Amino acid sequence: MFKRFISYYGPQKGLFIADTICALVYAGIDLAFPILLRFLTGGFFAEGSSAIMDGLLYIALGLVIMYAVRTACVYFVSAQGHIMGARMESKMREDLFDQYERFSFAYFDAHSSGDMMSRVVNDLFDICEGAHHLPEWIIICSIKIIGALVILFTISPALAAALTAVTVVFMGIMVRQNLHMRAVFADNRKKISGVNSQLQDSLGGIRVVKSFAGEDVEREKFRVANGRYLRSKEDQYHVMGGYQATSALMTGVHYLTIVVFGGYLVATGRMAALDLATFALYISLFTSPIETLVNSTETFQKAIAGFRRMDEVMRTAPDIQDKKDARPLVVTEGAIEYSSVCFTYPDTETSDDGTALERPVIDHMNLSIRPGETIALVGPSGGGKSTTCSLLPRFYDVASGSITIDGQDVRDVTQDSLRRAIGLVQQDVYLFDGTLRDNIAYGRPGATDEEIEHAARQANIHEFISSLPEGYDTVVGERGSRLSGGQKQRVAIARVFLKNPAILILDEATSALDNESEEAVQESLERLAQDRTTIIIAHRLSTIKNADEIATVERGKVMERGTHEELLARGGTYARYYRMQFEGARSHEL
Ligand code: ADP
Repeated sequence: MFKRFISYYGPQKGLFIADTICALVYAGIDLAFPILLRFLTGGFFAEGSSAIMDGLLYIALGLVIMYAVRTACVYFVSAQGHIMGARMESKMREDLFDQYERFSFAYFDAHSSGDMMSRVVNDLFDICEGAHHLPEWIIICSIKIIGALVILFTISPALAAALTAVTVVFMGIMVRQNLHMRAVFADNRKKISGVNSQLQDSLGGIRVVKSFAGEDVEREKFRVANGRYLRSKEDQYHVMGGYQATSALMTGVHYLTIVVFGGYLVATGRMAALDLATFALYISLFTSPIETLVNSTETFQKAIAGFRRMDEVMRTAPDIQDKKDARPLVVTEGAIEYSSVCFTYPDTETSDDGTALERPVIDHMNLSIRPGETIALVGPSGGGKSTTCSLLPRFYDVASGSITIDGQDVRDVTQDSLRRAIGLVQQDVYLFDGTLRDNIAYGRPGATDEEIEHAARQANIHEFISSLPEGYDTVVGERGSRLSGGQKQRVAIARVFLKNPAILILDEATSALDNESEEAVQESLERLAQDRTTIIIAHRLSTIKNADEIATVERGKVMERGTHEELLARGGTYARYYRMQFEGARSHEL
């Protein structure tokens, strides 16, 4: 973890070196001032005021230069140092986002989006402060502490030793408190991420919340998550308060030692009164950097707690990766072959004793789809139809067996080329908060306006878009909230037209639509499926009447396969479904 953290300083080398030099200069100047003062007062006592008068002008000039340099250094360290920290923070945020983009669906199934948002946004907030102050404070404070110690031991070894002993004892206490603080900050991160997840869930599902009048339930869940965060914050402030109090007590004991032990040394003639005065001046040079270090611990701990959570994600290897020798997929015809495919979702179910139940969702499935063919998958809900389709673009990897496209195993080709070759239209359409043009162009970045319009025409959505006052520049709202289900679906289809994939998956694309929208969508889907190998998952058997073949999928297996007529004649599962649906019995079941 430490190595990864340090690596972020690499690109900031120039700034880091300049920042360090400025920090060194400014610590040196702070250390020099009391020496100068001592020299001056020493001169007063030794040679009288007239001798000093001559040098005063030079000393004043020297001081002006010293403080001008110090002011410049303070500005540099504060402004540029923070900028360096902010750049590191920004780079970490990008790297973390990059890493999230690499993960497969299995990762997103297992992690809440609120938690992920928390890691990218909140957790990295303190990095800027930590990354900047970590080297600067350590350098400045160490120089000041070591410098002050050398001077203090020179003036009075006995008093300096006594003060060092006091400091060591208190530092011991503070190290323990520090460990506690680290745990509290880590807990803090977890709790705020809980608030984020809850918020994400409640606001993301606001339509369900409203339709079930579930506002009170949501308020209560939010109150609980927020309350947990508050308690964690309260713990944090208790620990921080204790820490600050220990530091304040240490300063008190330092002064007590100077007054009592130093007074004793002066009274017994073992130390000069002037030395005690200088000592009192220097002690602040010793205690204030210790206090700064103490206070900075809080900043570091916060930064570390955040970085640790980032590091956790960065260390997770994406479970689906391109092989080293992966080649781009070359689709010549579009033949698909599932050979003895098995698949189980990770940690899908646990038994009473908490162990994972290995129930294959896809169980030795064999399915070959001819080039350009449209095959419909039907079967009971939970039978494995969607999962079968998710394995083709490698949203998940098969546990055993293989899936090939024109003889190339999907695991041997680059994910990029594989996913470019497959178009997916799902029931749950996701539109980005942008214009209709942007949303369609997502299918092929860089597409011209003519191409976008052509795709929209093919998807039966051009007329509608043209009727809007702002046409293709209409903003669709978050998740396309300003469009109807059918309109969203047709925008999604236009997107796939533009992508022009060789293979198409229609996953219950029309099942959520009313009859009228379904008709318009169905027509554009049929156009889209022309000349492409297509897999359709449909609840309503009416939507698959144009399929070349039908396969029934149950318990992760293909149970029967054939044309509509063949399957009806066979009188098996499909025939039963068909009768059920058209006799109106349990039509919603399919
Ligand atoms: P179908 O499309 O035929 O309705 P699915 O392929 O969606 O069936 O689901 C098959 C089984 O896999 C079901 O038991 C379902 O609960 C489970 N399942 C589906 N998706 C996930 C997932 N992301 N994580 C865990 N289990 C899942």
